[in-house]
Amino acid sequence: MRSCRLCGSELTHTFVDLGMSPPCESYLTADQLDQGETFYPLHVRVCEQCLLVQLPAYIPPEEIFGHYAYFSSYSDSWVRHAEHFVEQATARLGLGDESFVVEVASNDGYLLQHVVARGIRALGIEPAANVAEAAEARGVPTEVLFLGEETGAKVAAEHGAADLVVANNVFAHVPDIVDFSKGLRALMADHGTLSIEIPHLLRLIEGHEYDTIYHEHFSYVSLLTTQRVLATAGLTVVDVEELPTHGGSLRTWSMPVGTAVPASAAVARVLAEEAEAGLDTLEGHAGFAASVAKVRNDLLEFLVGCSRDGKRVVAYGAPGKGNTLLNHCGIRSDLVEFSVDRNPFKHGRFLPGTHIPIHPVEALAEARPDYVLVMPWNLRREIASQLEYVREWGGRLVVALPELEVF
Ligand SMILES: [Zn+2]
Repeated sequence: MRSCRLCGSELTHTFVDLGMSPPCESYLTADQLDQGETFYPLHVRVCEQCLLVQLPAYIPPEEIFGHYAYFSSYSDSWVRHAEHFVEQATARLGLGDESFVVEVASNDGYLLQHVVARGIRALGIEPAANVAEAAEARGVPTEVLFLGEETGAKVAAEHGAADLVVANNVFAHVPDIVDFSKGLRALMADHGTLSIEIPHLLRLIEGHEYDTIYHEHFSYVSLLTTQRVLATAGLTVVDVEELPTHGGSLRTWSMPVGTAVPASAAVARVLAEEAEAGLDTLEGHAGFAASVAKVRNDLLEFLVGCSRDGKRVVAYGAPGKGNTLLNHCGIRSDLVEFSVDRNPFKHGRFLPGTHIPIHPVEALAEARPDYVLVMPWNLRREIASQLEYVREWGGRLVVALPELEVF
């Protein structure tokens, strides 16, 4: 029996079953192509009691995050996003030299460096030791640990309670979301505020963004289910903002129940929008599997058509999340010859499961393919301008999401 990570009820309803897939960041070397590969289920369920959409922890998180190689500062736009957030939060909460800010999953200090620069005391909490080292080098004090109620209380006892706790894009990635929420509360002062950024289930459903489903992404939340999770830790959402990041995210501001200010009109507005889409009922979650099947059918029809007509197709971008789509559709190098990516680490390696080779971007101009399948559909505008030269030989770009489009 699978039980809900929020309320403990038995999980009997499927949200979408994407079959079996290897861990999405496990790029293979040429030697590994002749070895076996471990595939795990990607079966997402929705709890009929609390409506939390969730994926079980099929892979132990220590295995995924213990040696996480991603450094947030590699992305310029992400660092700018963080700087803007710090500016906004400082003004909103009136933070000054007496204040204390803690960020959970603080990575390499990409965000807290802006807090430190303002002369505000800061502490990062980061489970990956090598990434935490980079933060320390940047002048951001960092504790290497996984947050839970116990470790949160320990940090607060040692460093003091925080006026602001930030947890951006980590909430969905913790298997024990209740213990994690209690950990967030333990870090906070009684008058403190918690800010969370998290992909919005409503946008995932509307945009058919099923490639954002992968093994490290355990919970897919609405504002309604976020409220329910935070309530287990005595926290209540007082404000919410809708952001364009990650295909559409929510930024929630929460406070302890005892000291919380009244919820803003935005909270009621987003809840109403979710109810309009049916996300306050089990039935409202039923149509997603059919949308996913349509995306797969359209993409495969297109690729099989190209194969029949002798047209060449290559992929642009080898992001981890693209692997969910490729594996679910069973697309291998027979349908997509190779993929190109800007990250040199990936060159000469192969995508997990599908074994599509990854080349430097220059390979595109050499091969002059008829179609370039753009995997990071959320960056299509930026990528289209980078790939303007594809038109010189009559090539066209293609995205699979939110629906198949050749442009
Ligand atoms: Zn539940």
